[in-house]
Amino acid sequence: MFRVKSLSRYAAVLLACAAPVVSVFAQDGAPAVSQQVPAGAPKLIVAISIDQFSADIFAQYRQRFTGGFARLTQGAVFPAGFQSHAATETCPGHSTILTGNRPAHTGIIANSWIDQSVTTGPKVVYCAEDVSKRTAGSKDYVASPVHLLVPTLGEWMKKANPAARNIAVSGKDRGALMMGGHDIDQVYWWKGKQFVTLAGRELGATAVAENAEIDKLLAKGAPAFPLPAWCGRQDRAVQAGTATVGTGRFALKAGEGDQFRVSPRLDRATLDLAVKLVDEQKLGKNSVPDILAVSLSATDYVGHATGTEGAEMCIQLTQLDMALGDFFASLDKRGIDYVVVLTADHGGFDLPERLHEQALEKSARVNSAVSPEALSATLGKKYGLEAKGLILSDGPSGDYWLRRDLDPGTKGKLVDDAKALLEADPQVEVVLSAAEIAATPMPTTSPETWTLAERARASYNPLHSGDFVVFLKRGVVPIPAPRAGYVATHGSPWDYDRRVPILFWRKGMTGFEQPSGVETVDIAPSLAALIGLKIPQGAFDGRCLDLDGGTGNTCGAVK
Ligand SMILES: [Zn+2]
Repeated sequence: MFRVKSLSRYAAVLLACAAPVVSVFAQDGAPAVSQQVPAGAPKLIVAISIDQFSADIFAQYRQRFTGGFARLTQGAVFPAGFQSHAATETCPGHSTILTGNRPAHTGIIANSWIDQSVTTGPKVVYCAEDVSKRTAGSKDYVASPVHLLVPTLGEWMKKANPAARNIAVSGKDRGALMMGGHDIDQVYWWKGKQFVTLAGRELGATAVAENAEIDKLLAKGAPAFPLPAWCGRQDRAVQAGTATVGTGRFALKAGEGDQFRVSPRLDRATLDLAVKLVDEQKLGKNSVPDILAVSLSATDYVGHATGTEGAEMCIQLTQLDMALGDFFASLDKRGIDYVVVLTADHGGFDLPERLHEQALEKSARVNSAVSPEALSATLGKKYGLEAKGLILSDGPSGDYWLRRDLDPGTKGKLVDDAKALLEADPQVEVVLSAAEIAATPMPTTSPETWTLAERARASYNPLHSGDFVVFLKRGVVPIPAPRAGYVATHGSPWDYDRRVPILFWRKGMTGFEQPSGVETVDIAPSLAALIGLKIPQGAFDGRCLDLDGGTGNTCGAVK
């Protein structure tokens, strides 16, 4: 096992950010990487992220799986994996999986953050957006991995062997870009009614073919999915604001791209495209190992739209299990020697309206008192400062920023006052200032034991983080008013959002179950060791996990 000497890498990260190219990896003087592919190493790494697939729903549905998930439970099973940081959102979570680094080092501290130096458009910056390419009046953004500060496993593989192929597909741009990184041979994600790629790139023939198949399906629509018998007890309507959830079946009306997205069909299409890319790119047939990252987004969309405990999630996971089974069978048919890792970018939590009926009466929706607008009004009045833009955030929890032109003394007073005001709110657990978080050492203990300050430290990066962070109490959902399509969410520092399964599988491996806590940042070092890739010491926050349940040791010398 090796641990990061964070000071030296921090210097490198900061240096990289001052330069026009932000990847540390791309800087001159970056440490060398080498590879000696061991005899019998797999020829293809398949890294799958199921968006919002919590350890809780894995445990709940595990006994029902008969397809792809069932196969993976025969491998090395870590049911208590952790996205160990506090900011349990999609972009930070995906940034940990193949970089082996926590968001503190990937720079992806949230799905979006405030950058007050931005001069075109709003100050909110999306994690997978190249702000320098913004144009006035445009409602769209240019997708890019520009904010990712560390290399991915695929980039390390290409650095060692330029012939290695690094491919990523996803239902979301940030899923594909954070798993693929800067140097991606092919990258596709879902947008509107089709798969698209980076600006300036042409769609490959496979993506064109997949889009044509989806066009046909969208043109005619599709019937509802059947309800498996064992989903019956979850098939009950719950009212959340104007939305009724719990009994959905995902019938697809002709022409409705959004209904396609929030359904098992999106994952099926993403996996279809992945198989087509395996053929087009001849993955697993190369002289050196290749990597295919697949981020499956429908579980997250279903979770946000209908929660985790309705008939909808039951149908979604049943269909996903079958789609994964078909995907693995397609790889088998091609005779490829592949290793799979499957995990999630974060966990999830059900909607308060259903939780109230199911023994969690303390669950609640956040009230408006903790909003930055309410805070700005109160503190602006107290100090005679203009309230507009005094305190900024991208939601009623997580990072908050103070207007940047305030002097340090005023900023200090405002942080103290904001902390006192917010912590008096019964829905707020704690407010931590950036100074408090920065002074907290990066934790080195098992992730289930971390304090909230340590969780915050793991997703704190001074380049992007706010002046303070607000954590709501366990069970308080940061959606003040539910609406159709958005009733439940994740993003908290609590374990229902941090805990995710981590499953490794390869044909013929000696499987085992390890219930102790491990981290998603352990995935990249484990896979690197498996394919003989020698990464410089200190490049990972994670450690190598020995994936052999017997006397063998897949970590070799690096353990
Ligand atoms: Zn997500």
